This record gives sequence, C-alpha cells and structure tokens, in this order.
Amino acid sequence: MSDTPTESAAPSFRSDVTVELVKHSAADSDVLFAARVSTAGEQSLEEITKDPERSKGLINFLMRDRHGSPFEHNSMTFFISAPIFVFREFMRHRAGWSYNEESGRYRELQPVFYVPGESRKLVQEGRPGKYVFVEGTRAQHELTGRVMEDSYRASYEAYQEMLAAGVAREVARTVLPVGLYSSMYATCNARSLMHFLGLRTQHEAATVPSFPQREIEMVGEQMEEAWAKLMPLTHAAYNKNGRIAP
Ligand SMILES: Cc1cc2nc3c(=O)[nH]c(=O)nc-3n(C[C@H](O)[C@H](O)[C@H](O)COP(=O)(O)OP(=O)(O)OC[C@H]3O[C@@H](n4cnc5c(N)ncnc54)[C@H](O)[C@@H]3O)c2cc1C
Repeated sequence: MSDTPTESAAPSFRSDVTVELVKHSAADSDVLFAARVSTAGEQSLEEITKDPERSKGLINFLMRDRHGSPFEHNSMTFFISAPIFVFREFMRHRAGWSYNEESGRYRELQPVFYVPGESRKLVQEGRPGKYVFVEGTRAQHELTGRVMEDSYRASYEAYQEMLAAGVAREVARTVLPVGLYSSMYATCNARSLMHFLGLRTQHEAATVPSFPQREIEMVGEQMEEAWAKLMPLTHAAYNKNGRIAP
C-alpha cells in the first residue's frame, strides 16, 4: 500500500452516530430451541410453535433465573460509525463480542469530527458516583462548538502537513483527537448485547441503574431498537426482569 496522501475533504462535524444492522441470524425461537434441547432432544423444533404462551413463559423463566447460555445461539452484526472515544468504551466489552475497525495505518483518516448537539447536557454536577448532568448555558454551548471545531481543524491540518511531507499515516495520525469518527463492525449475541445495554443505557425498567456517557448510550439505543424487532419476547423478558443480562 502506498503512503502517498490523497486529496482530502474539508473537515465536517457531526452530533449523531450511525448504527446499521448489516447481518443477523437471531430470533426468539433460537432461545427456545436451545433451551428445549435439554428436555425434548430432537423433538425440540416442533415444540416451539405449538404453545406461544408456554414459549413466552419459558423465555421469561430463563431470563429471571439467569440461565444465560440459550441466549447465545444467535448473531447480530452492526456497522457503527461513532467517535473514537465511544469505541474506546465499547471495546472494553470482551465477552461475546467480535470487532473489526477501520485502519489508520492503511488508509488516510477522513476529517469527520464530533461536536455535541443542542440536546447534549454539557455541565456535570455532583461527585463521582453521584453525577447529574444539566443543560448548560447558550454561551457554554457556543463556546464548546467553536473551540472543538478550531481544535479539530488545527489537528487535521497538522496531520495533513505530515502526510504531505511523506510521513507515514501511522505516525501522522498521532495528532488526531478522540473526537474523530471511526467505523467498525461489531458482532454480538443477545446475551452479550443485554450485558452491554445494562451498562451502557439508562432505562426506567433497570433495577441496577448505570450512568453511561451519553454518546455510547446513543449507539446502544439504536442497537436495542434493532434487536427488539428481531427478538421481541426476549427483549420484553429482559425489561420485565430489570434489564439484567442472564
Ligand atoms: C458507567 C461506566 C463507567 C466506567 N468507568 C470506567 C473507568 O473509569 N475506567 C475503566 O477502566 N473502565 C471503566 N468502565 C468499563 C468497565 O470497567 C468494564 O470494563 C466495561 O463496562 C465492560 O464490562 P464487563 O467487563 O462486564 O464486560 P465484558 O468484558 O463483555 O464481560 C462480560 C462479563 O464476562 C465476565 N468476564 C469477562 N472477562 C472476565 C475476566 N477476565 N475475568 C472474570 N470474568 C470475566 C464478567 O462476568 C463480565 O461482567 C466503565 C463502565 C461503565 C458502564
């Protein structure tokens, strides 16, 4: 691969994240099939559609009593585009996750940067473990947008200057900030996704509340929406049982 820089786009700024379900093999019947193997053996697939209420009850029982492994026999692959600071948090989730991220060594990184939107609460009050976030003033919002954009532009210019001088991408990228957007494929199953959602979203049904950073929560909310359509009984049982992964 050549280290010659290509002509670059002007910096652009986003406040949102992209989450697309690109591939899946995930249904409530996968949970039932796996659970009933232990009691019904080869008959299990036929049993699934016979009695919907029983199926719902079984999923709820598995969730409530934390029989987790039947929730692993499914797969969802998401394409996600979000700032690097979100990916740093995301990739801490090790169990039941596979990741592939775009390379800053093999391609020139594009100048797309995160700036908080109007609805992003800007000011943190309280002490560790007891934070609350409040809106912030108009002046704080304007200052944040302006300072971030100026800083992003300066760092991307520094990156370009090094590339133009023949410095390798893997060295030049050092000056780029964690507000730069990256993209990845993330593959999980319902069990690993439930664990992720329990930590990275806030929800009224959660019996153990978490306090995630808003930007990873934005990713989690979109993943949850896609998953709930694929596995509605599992999703309902998850909420009913306090959003604690089995
Ligand atoms: C609100 C919030 C604040 C955070 N703040 C910080 C912070 O300040 N600094 C920081 O470093 N991290 C922080 N984290 C990251 C956090 O510590 C976890 O790394 C992250 O949430 C992934 O959780 P996990 O390990 O349970 O998930 P996974 O890695 O997906 O693991 C899932 C489960 O598998 C089991 N498991 C996985 N690996 C092991 C292992 N090696 N040994 C035993 N059991 C294992 C555990 O039961 C675990 O819960 C924060 C997370 C949240 C949600």
